Formats: sequence, C-alpha cells, structure tokens
Amino acid sequence: MTEVKDVVVVGAGFAGLAALYKMRALGLSVAGIEQAPDVGGVWYHNNYPGARCDVESVDYSYSFSDALQVEWEWTEKYAAQPEILAYLRHVAERFDLRPLIRFNTRVLSASREAEDRRWLVETDAGDVISCEYLVMASGSLSAPKDPDFAGLQDFKGEWYQTSFWPKDPVKFEGKRVGLIGTGSSGVQSGPKIAETAEHLTVFQRTPVFTIPARNGPMDQEKFTAVKARYPEYREEAKTFRIGSPLYSTGRPTTDFTPDELRQVLAARWEAGGPALSGSFTDAGRVLEANNKVVAFVHERIREIVKDPETAELLCPKDHPIGARRICIDTDYYATYNRENVTLVDVRTHPIERITAAGIKTTEKEYPLDMIVFAIGFDAVTGAMTRINITNKEGLSIADKWRDGAGTYLGLMTAGFPNLFIVTGPGSPSVLVNMVAAIEHDVHWIGDTISYLRKNHLQRIEATAEAEDEWTDHVAEIGSGLLLSKANSWYMGSNIAGKKRFLVAYPLGMPPYRQKVEEIVADGYRGFVLS
Ligand code: FAD
Ligand code: NAP
Repeated sequence: MTEVKDVVVVGAGFAGLAALYKMRALGLSVAGIEQAPDVGGVWYHNNYPGARCDVESVDYSYSFSDALQVEWEWTEKYAAQPEILAYLRHVAERFDLRPLIRFNTRVLSASREAEDRRWLVETDAGDVISCEYLVMASGSLSAPKDPDFAGLQDFKGEWYQTSFWPKDPVKFEGKRVGLIGTGSSGVQSGPKIAETAEHLTVFQRTPVFTIPARNGPMDQEKFTAVKARYPEYREEAKTFRIGSPLYSTGRPTTDFTPDELRQVLAARWEAGGPALSGSFTDAGRVLEANNKVVAFVHERIREIVKDPETAELLCPKDHPIGARRICIDTDYYATYNRENVTLVDVRTHPIERITAAGIKTTEKEYPLDMIVFAIGFDAVTGAMTRINITNKEGLSIADKWRDGAGTYLGLMTAGFPNLFIVTGPGSPSVLVNMVAAIEHDVHWIGDTISYLRKNHLQRIEATAEAEDEWTDHVAEIGSGLLLSKANSWYMGSNIAGKKRFLVAYPLGMPPYRQKVEEIVADGYRGFVLS
C-alpha cells in the first residue's frame, strides 16, 4: 500500500538529521530512510582506527540550536569518530528524530507519479511512499569504491574497507597487514594500525600531501570563549571561504622574500591543521607559487623520514599541493621510521592481483594476514546515481549525469521537479567545512518549501538554461585553478569511465551564499515555480 508524506529524506547523517529537524519544524509530515542500522552517515560507516575530523570540532558541528552547541562538550581539537557519532546520536535523541527514520532500509528508486505531481519512493523493505518533496541527503562520500581487485576471492586472510568498517573490534596484533590507499583514510588509519600490527605494508600509488594536525585536548579557555558568543562566532565563520575560520596571509607568494616565505610556512606547519593550504592568494592558481609551498613540504618530509629512499617516495611530485585533498594527520610520515612499516611503490610496480597468501605486484608477492582497503568513493554523484531516480520522461539521474553532473547551484537538477539535493555537485560541498555547507542547503530547501506553500505553489524546477549557465560557470572558474589539473576524486578521475569534471564550486561559501540569496531575492531567478 502506498503511504503518503509531504517529504522523504534519504540518509541520516549530518544532512539527513538536519533536514528531518527542519522539515518537521515546518509542520510537514516526513519520513527519513537510512540503509544503515543507525544514524551518523560517514561517522557510522567509517569507524576505522584513527578516523577523526579535519575541521576543528567547534566548527564541525551544528549551529541550528544554541542550546546544543553550548551544552555539547568536545574533548579534542579534532574530534575522533566515536565522539562525532556520539554527538549525532545525541542530536537524534535530543530532538526526537529517531521515530521519523526507517533504518536498515535502502531507497531503490524514485519516480514521478502519473500526473507528475509527486515522487514515488520505493525501498528494499517494500515501502512505497508518495511524497511532494524528495530531499537527497544521501551523502557526498557515501558510495564506496568496490575493492574489485583480481583474485580477492582467493585471499585466505581477513580483509576490510575503511568506508565499511566492522562494528566488532578488529585486532591487528601478530598480523602482517597490507594497506592499499594513501588518501585521508589511509593516512589516518596507517599510523594506528602500525601501533599494534606485527608488520604494516603500505601500497602507495600516489603520494599525498599531509600536514600535522597537532591534535590535542580541547583548549577549554578557547572553547568557553566561543560558547559565550557562539551565534556571533558562527556568523563570522560564514565570512571565511571554507565556512569556518581559515586565515590566509591575503597576499601572493611574490610579496615575500624566500626567508619570509619560509617563516610563514614554518609557523603554519607548527600550528598544524589546514592553515598551510590557504596561506597565499596565488598558490592555488600559479604553478610557480604552488611549487614554493611544495618545496617546503618536501623538505619537511625529508627531515622527518629517516630512510632517504622512502622519503623520496613519499614526496608528491606529480601534482600541485591542494589539487588533491590535503590530509591532516597524526604521525603519518614518522610512521615510516618504524621498523615494522614498509612502503611499497605500486605506481612503478602495480598490484597485479591478490593471491591466497597476500598481494602480488608486478615485482613480487607480499605475504599478508590482512588487507585494509582505503581506496575511496564514487564521490558526490555516486550515492544518487546508484538509486534509480527517474523523471516524467523516464530519464534517470545516472543517465542525465553521465556526461557531467549538471545542476543549478548544486541544489536542483533540471527536469527533476521538487527534488532537492544537499551539497550536490556544483555546490561548494566537499571543498568546504561540510557541516556549514549542509546547514546552508537545508535552510534553503526548508525556506523554499515554505515559500512554495505560502504562495500556493506546487512545484519548483531549475530551468535547463540556468543549469547550463551555472555548470559552465563552475567549470570555467575551475579551469583557472590548479585544482582541475590533477587526477583526483575532485575531478571524478578515481572512477573508471566517469566523465572528468570539477565536482564542486571552488570559490567557497561567501560568494556562493551571496549568489543564492540574489537569486531568491530576484524571485527564484532560473527556477520555474508553478
Ligand atoms: P553522509 O554522512 O554520507 O550520510 C549519507 C547517508 O545516506 C548515509 O548514512 C548512507 O548510508 C545513506 N544513504 C545513501 N544512499 C542511500 C540509499 N539509497 N538508501 C538509504 N540510505 C542511503 N567533511 C568535513 O567537512 N570535515 C571532515 O573532517 C570530514 N571528515 C570526513 C571523514 C571521512 C572518513 C569521510 C568519508 C568524510 C569526511 N568528511 C568531512 C565529508 C563528510 O562526507 C561530511 O562532512 C558529512 O559527514 C556528510 O554528511 P551527509 O549527511 O551529507 O552524508
Ligand atoms: P581517496 O582520497 O580517494 O584515496 C584513495 C586511495 O586509494 C588513493 O591513494 C588511491 O590512489 C588509492 N587507490 C585506489 N584504487 C587503487 C588501486 N587499484 N591500487 C592502488 N591504490 C589505489 O579516498 P579516502 O582516503 O577514503 O578519502 C576520500 C575523502 O574523504 C577525503 O579526500 C576527504 O574528503 C574525506 N575524508 C576525510 C578524512 C578526514 O581527515 N577527516 C578522513 C577520511 C576521508 P590513487 O590516488 O593513485 O588513485
């Protein structure tokens, strides 16, 4: 039997919980659908050792309830996964959101009802829900890449994926562990695994730029000061490119003598966290400027890593710093000084197959008891293209986005009325503090639905012209940035056959917010409301 709701929200991570709260507050009937058995999203699935946020906890948290932000106690500068999951569970309980969510339920499809007025959502639990608005809070990094390595089925040991980590403890003691992948997940999990494993072999294809987090207990004085004025603090955060404080020098590298430049970079390296990446106005655009920052980080790597050959292998030389996601680590480079850690270069000698006993590269076989895959995601579009979402003409999102994910502002896609996307492709999403981006989008969706209802309107749809213009605009800005020069998941190039396009709006939150506000003030320019 078909149920009727005003809204269906897909996903119960940061975005889904915020959307459920907002939709219910508007007086709408709402169903949340989550494939996992619990809330948390990323922070439920990615409970691998070492997982923690790389945006400070005071910023990587909701602002929608002042009581929540004042009462919640973060214990570390960068909260670890268990604490973030506990926070999201607390949010779900505090605001009584659990009863709205169907857990262990996967959305399989969404299609338009015959008269093209409502969405019909179908799940693997047999639910059929008719809704006026469909909110995709299905995540930007929630569709894991499959470890489709030849021979994996023959492997006699244990294997795990960071993006789908078991809920029972995994023991590394006495085991020879192989880790494939040196993105953020590999950079965080490697050092923790090495602490107890008999041996850790890291299979590296592309070395990564990573900056020490300098994590530690929360600075209580700073935290108390923030709490005393959290709403103003959040307003100030909105003025920063990433939606939370990140101070640039505001000057190009050419303004500095080599000594001054080194001092600036050294201070930022010492301070830790993402500060180093946004230091100069030209480093994201001009290769020569970027190279100065690269040279500084290479020096640090060579200083930390004792074996010169390993140090050279760890120095990224095939892409500008910042063109791939910069990682924030704890003891990553130093881990390679441990006797029980080996780095294997699988760029030169690729993995040929997995065997019963371990991993075989084109050079040799590495005997292993366990393999950990930290190989990433079909980012930003994957969660939605894995659901069969079709419009009135029978066109699916997967087909529509095959040649690049066209959206208007990342919030809607033409031809799919009343389908709202949280941190969709073409929005700042993965290039900023994602909680800030999520709250922006959820607000916009809620305000838009209110506007429709108040004005007795039934549907909103992006026009194809507005979508093309926005999508071209994002691509054009991207083409002037070093960001679009590397192969990375930002460009979709980690997925075979995925069209190469920049998945996010690269200028950050302030100009994006302004653009969205202007469009709304101009009567939702570029949308058709009817
Ligand atoms: P998610 O948390 O991914 O939630 C989406 C939910 O939708 C999931 O629970 C998924 O199970 C569910 N879902 C998907 N498809 C379906 C379906 N068909 N049916 C039912 N349910 C479905 N960002 C930062 O800004 N700072 C950080 O420090 C940071 N750290 C990260 C660490 C890791 C390990 C990862 C993977 C990502 C990190 N991110 C970080 C990015 C992260 O994606 C966002 O910060 C944020 O958690 C996203 O929340 P979300 O609710 O949009 O998506
Ligand atoms: P990722 O950045 O895409 O890294 C995947 C790694 O696996 C890359 O090193 C990749 O090498 C390697 N790889 C994939 N297939 C391979 C193969 N067949 N053979 C050898 N190597 C292979 O994925 P991720 O580390 O999960 O991170 C994804 C994003 O999630 C991050 O960029 C970040 O936004 C977010 N995240 C954040 C944190 C945090 O610090 N808070 C932690 C985890 C994740 P190539 O590059 O050569 O393909």
